[in-house]
Amino acid sequence: MNKAPLSAPEGGTLETTARTTEAPSGAVEGAVAKYLEKHGFEALRPKTVLFDMDGVLYNSMPNHAVAWQKSMAKFGIQMSEADAYATEGARGVDTIRMMVKRQQGRDIDEQEAQLMYDEKTRIFHSMPETQIMPGVLQLMEQIHACGLSIGVVTGSGQRPLINRLLKDFKGFLTEDHITTAYDIKRGKPNPDPYLMGLQKAGDLQPWEGIVVENAPLGVHAGVAARIFTIAVNTGPLPDHILQDEGADLLFKKMPDLTEAWPVFYSSVISSSVVLSA
Ligand code: CA
Repeated sequence: MNKAPLSAPEGGTLETTARTTEAPSGAVEGAVAKYLEKHGFEALRPKTVLFDMDGVLYNSMPNHAVAWQKSMAKFGIQMSEADAYATEGARGVDTIRMMVKRQQGRDIDEQEAQLMYDEKTRIFHSMPETQIMPGVLQLMEQIHACGLSIGVVTGSGQRPLINRLLKDFKGFLTEDHITTAYDIKRGKPNPDPYLMGLQKAGDLQPWEGIVVENAPLGVHAGVAARIFTIAVNTGPLPDHILQDEGADLLFKKMPDLTEAWPVFYSSVISSSVVLSA
């Protein structure tokens, strides 16, 4: 297993979209430079880290995929595991309306979709409780120690999930920093959820945030909000799907990001100092 060096040598590779488990400082600086150029920003000065929930904070996607398949089958909708991962991060009702339109040629309203989504939620909650992703608590500790706030931006929004977030990440996360499906009209892949996350973090600018995402639609949303977006590919999709959506950096699993955080953060700070000098 690769260990992230605490003081990586300067001048490493500038290939920033390559999968990395150690984020050498050169790769981070290259990624930041590309990000600033792409959006026309002067510096990346993070004040908050906005985490997606499923597949990032919790290892919940396998259960979600099963709940999607079982619930939709009851309504005559075929939803494969691949479909569940491909649509991950979207508002549940949006996914259902799209699947019904595609498979049955019907336009259904939000209310009907919500009833179907309630069944998906019911099945999900009947399954064993999902675990916190390895490395997440240690990552939050480091982020806090750097003086950054922590937010969660999710396409879910059931009360039990919010309560669990507040319990599991007590000390790091407060309710006013949680953005759910019910806070916004347009879900991921639109930028709205992450823009709301910035607003809840204290009316921050895109260059004052960092997004951590695992799904294509979520990466798309973070990039569309012009926030530096770190993809962590915790699911079965190939890396390039996340890179094609514009991820600024990619890690294979959460512990890799946790190990890389000190090098990542110091590289971000030094990049911004150089660029704004
Ligand atoms: Ca996710």
